[in-house]
Amino acid sequence: MSTAGTGRPNRQAWREIDRVDPAKRPASERVADFHEIYSLLDEANVREQASRCLQCPQPSCQEGCPLANRIPEWLALAAEGRFLEAAEISRTTSNMPEICPRVCPQERLCEGACVLVGHAEPICIGAIEKFINEYALAHSEYPISCAVPNGGRVAVVGAGPGGLACADELSKLGYAVSVFESQLLSGGLLMFGIPAFKLEKAVVERRVNILKKQGVEFKMGVTVGTDISLAGLLSDHQAVFLGIGALKPKALDVPGAELKGVYQGLPFLAQKNAPISLGLAPLAVQGKRVVVLGGGDSAMDCLRTAVRCGAADTVCVYRRDLANMPGSRKEYANALEEGARFMFLTNPLALEGNAAGEVTAVRCVRMELGEPDASGRRKPRAVPGSEVTLPADLILIAYGFDPVPFPPTSDLSRIAVNEWGGTKTDGNQMTNVPGVFAGGDVVRGPSLVVHAVLDGRKAAAGIHRYLCGQASAPIAAPAPPG
Ligand SMILES: Cc1cc2nc3c(=O)[nH]c(=O)nc-3n(C[C@H](O)[C@H](O)[C@H](O)COP(=O)(O)OP(=O)(O)OC[C@H]3O[C@@H](n4cnc5c(N)ncnc54)[C@H](O)[C@@H]3O)c2cc1C
Ligand code: SF4
Repeated sequence: MSTAGTGRPNRQAWREIDRVDPAKRPASERVADFHEIYSLLDEANVREQASRCLQCPQPSCQEGCPLANRIPEWLALAAEGRFLEAAEISRTTSNMPEICPRVCPQERLCEGACVLVGHAEPICIGAIEKFINEYALAHSEYPISCAVPNGGRVAVVGAGPGGLACADELSKLGYAVSVFESQLLSGGLLMFGIPAFKLEKAVVERRVNILKKQGVEFKMGVTVGTDISLAGLLSDHQAVFLGIGALKPKALDVPGAELKGVYQGLPFLAQKNAPISLGLAPLAVQGKRVVVLGGGDSAMDCLRTAVRCGAADTVCVYRRDLANMPGSRKEYANALEEGARFMFLTNPLALEGNAAGEVTAVRCVRMELGEPDASGRRKPRAVPGSEVTLPADLILIAYGFDPVPFPPTSDLSRIAVNEWGGTKTDGNQMTNVPGVFAGGDVVRGPSLVVHAVLDGRKAAAGIHRYLCGQASAPIAAPAPPG
């Protein structure tokens, strides 16, 4: 930590030291591959950047982090070069401390809440969290928690971040945990949705391997509700966690949506990013004019993936303005640098096609923003007589997702859902079916990795309380955190 020669931490370091962000590969280089675009900060920069922290007694960054990460504590250790101890503290509140900093929209979370905002650039919390955890993974025998078995058995359905975090917490408490996953690879949207240029797939595989070493069992290619019933799971396990995400894409509801060349964004991303063949029909974008509909993270990812696949032109059509766009500003800037174009305040009215039934253009109308709606965002309305036609060879729909409805023939349909299909849970993440818990996107709707991790942790604690309360044979006390 900077001591300004006094031996005491220098609380003015933030005035003297500018924020430094990790180096980003030039756009011309990175569009030629799918590797991550940011490098790690070096040790000297990590120490200096961490020393900018004021060590607030009531840290607002910690309040801004959904996991309440103990940020000032690990920043103080990082400033002293004690990276392994810093990483150890960061692991106490996060099951994916090397993954969240790669994908969190820090400007809306920890860094956006930093007390320096408005006075200076906030501390680069995400970059330091990523560094200390990569350092720990590279420089030490990574601690694998091998808790004494407590006699309990829990099934986790879905190997996305919510399921993995829940499995991790429960196995550290001594439960025998089996993860049931319908795909052949673990990670959920970490593997099939978020592109490798934001999160390389080896990083996800490394985290899954840590859980395997810890004793978590993975049953791949098993769809709960089809291959095995909820009752079947409950007969073998004392509790179940559902972390099955919200993977039903919202449809495009305009004339022409059925034309050839109109695709949902998620299968496109999965096909271009997954490290295994998914058996999907190949979707070629080379030399094509690609129009992406939507303004969230998925839209940014579709644009940047299409650029990397050689699209001739890549345009995002979004009905609100930049200020009201849900996608992360960092990813918007990256997409712009990589050559994507944006048409804000524009909405599709219809898709036009040729005699072969292939899409050739998007007919759009310009929009203006009216009064705020229930969510507080200003409602877009069409400007009469402002139609424009945008030539297109391929359309990617990125309008977001809903939870997949439980099959009516499956006993999963006993689980209560709300009006938009989200699974209802109580404060412990338990559903209306005793012993069945849920979290992540299946409860919240499309959200963030860090929120899924939070729900998985809360559910694990809820499951432990529930089983301790009802166990006829006592569940053993938790082992110390690993
Ligand atoms: C394109 C895209 C980009 C994104 N980018 C970001 C980002 O940059 N930052 C960020 O924080 N968030 C991002 N998100 C959101 C984030 O990925 C999700 O919020 C998060 O993955 C939700 O985690 P989850 O565990 O609830 O579900 P998921 O990650 O969806 O995992 C659910 C798992 O359950 C499995 N499953 C489903 N049904 C069954 C069943 N019946 N039986 C067995 N298994 C089943 C699925 O195969 C899947 O593996 C992005 C999302 C998308 C789509
Ligand atoms: S988990 Fe996300 S919000 Fe929390 S400190 Fe890390 S980067 Fe910030």
